[in-house]
Amino acid sequence: MTTMLITGGGQGIGAATALLAARQGYAVCVNYVHNSTQAEQVVATIRKNGGQALAVQADISNEEAVQRLFDTAIRELGPLTVLVNNAGITGKLGRFSEVETQSLRRVLEINVLGTMLCSREAIRHMSTISGGLGGTIINLSSRAAQVGSPHEYIHYAASKAAVETFTIGLSKEVANEGIRINCVSPGIIETDIHAKAGDPERPQRYASQIPMQRAGRPNEVAAAILWLASDEASYCNGSILAVSGGR
Ligand code: NAP
Repeated sequence: MTTMLITGGGQGIGAATALLAARQGYAVCVNYVHNSTQAEQVVATIRKNGGQALAVQADISNEEAVQRLFDTAIRELGPLTVLVNNAGITGKLGRFSEVETQSLRRVLEINVLGTMLCSREAIRHMSTISGGLGGTIINLSSRAAQVGSPHEYIHYAASKAAVETFTIGLSKEVANEGIRINCVSPGIIETDIHAKAGDPERPQRYASQIPMQRAGRPNEVAAAILWLASDEASYCNGSILAVSGGR
């Protein structure tokens, strides 16, 4: 059985990815940081349907926690074949001049440093150079990286641009070690991330500006993630796949 570790797998896009991955036969490690109830619910649903899953608490911006997360996932579920760097936060919506330093720091620590710490750990396990079996990493960027998100969260957009550049560089660095690295760049997707940013109605408000005239659903992003993880995407490396209704 192949094992997928999803950071922030208890809610939103991460939860949809965990459920779809389990249906496709992956053993799934569902990472969470605060919300154990939702992560355990995802795990219970997978197990009820005959799949294998495990919830593991870890703050991905903390090096020791990341180490423990990977050690636990591999010990309990077997060698890691797919990492989905999904966990992310936006901070509150507003003008950049009003952003508090602590919010700025957390957005960069979770979205950028967290993605890097988890990727480094995954490569150490997956690389054929160090005796690994190879694997694939899918990073979650955002269309914000391209539009810059003025008046909303420029620092979040910049953190996702860093994720895209990181994807491009790392995919080239380890391409010959059995590892493919790609990125999914969602547009506006209906999850609680907008309420956490202070605007639960944001997906509806933006619908008319999206060529397809609607926000996306978490399972529509999950499908792209699972495709990039699969052998069907065997020649995709360093790709940034927009899942944004054309926005
Ligand atoms: P969400 O519903 O708010 O879920 C975020 C997840 O990240 C939660 O499960 C949360 O864990 C986890 N998380 C946050 N900080 C963490 C940390 N320090 N360590 C480990 N896990 C942490 O968000 P979403 O909308 O599904 O977004 C998923 C990804 O897609 C993010 O990277 C986001 O930037 C990106 N994205 C989303 C949209 C959108 O419109 N929804 C658009 C573009 C890109 P807990 O469950 O424990 O709180």
